[in-house]
Amino acid sequence: MRFDVLTLFPEIIESYCNVSIMKRAKEGAVFTLNTVNPRDYTEDKHKKVDDTPYGGGAGMVLMPQPYVDAYDSVEKLDKSITVMLSPQGEPLNENLVMKLADYNQIIMLCGHYEGFDERIREIIKPKEISIGDFVLTGGELPALCLIDAVSRKLNGTLGKIESAEDDSFSNGLLEYPHYTKPRDFRGYKVPEVLLNGNHKDINEFRFNQQLERTKLKRPDLYEKFKKEADL
Ligand code: SAM
Repeated sequence: MRFDVLTLFPEIIESYCNVSIMKRAKEGAVFTLNTVNPRDYTEDKHKKVDDTPYGGGAGMVLMPQPYVDAYDSVEKLDKSITVMLSPQGEPLNENLVMKLADYNQIIMLCGHYEGFDERIREIIKPKEISIGDFVLTGGELPALCLIDAVSRKLNGTLGKIESAEDDSFSNGLLEYPHYTKPRDFRGYKVPEVLLNGNHKDINEFRFNQQLERTKLKRPDLYEKFKKEADL
């Protein structure tokens, strides 16, 4: 997998990918990361990348020339997808993450200020993806959410691939609760069933916990699961 990120703030992307699991995955060649700064492609002598909106209104709009030229400079691999991070896009969820993980390359366009000049969208024709119904100052955090979530699906990112298998959403339910040492913390005890080594009982307990907490916290997911599993 190769991630190419068009951003005015490459240091945000690079610093996150230079620690912990992302760093290990990058160093282990699970993915490669390339950042491209549209400011390096501007034809403006003052390195301007944004300007006031035609028609008036608040904020600064990202100009098409630096973004489109920066985009054209990126090498396109086979099986590549271009994503524009935008609050107007398709909401990112586990299904979409799985689909994205099938590509060899994800090129991401991060906006800032008031957002993109519409012609960037018209010329590049990206898939627009949102990380939720709220508005952030820039597309860097959404791009990192996408990079992180997709990387977790790639072989070699996590210590053991099974570590992601039971995660929330992987079977349509939220994950069961976890416990570690000590057995008793301030009178709060680890459920007995987890201590007896009987894997059939443990699996049953965990599955029931998944059902219970999904029903409580995400009734929408629970109803969908029930319908699909014919419960
Ligand atoms: N004026 C735009 C609108 O109302 O649709 C919002 C622009 S926002 C302040 C600046 C940039 O942050 C966007 O171009 C986008 O790249 C990014 N962004 C903000 N919220 C986002 C979200 N929920 N999901 C994905 N990207 C987001």
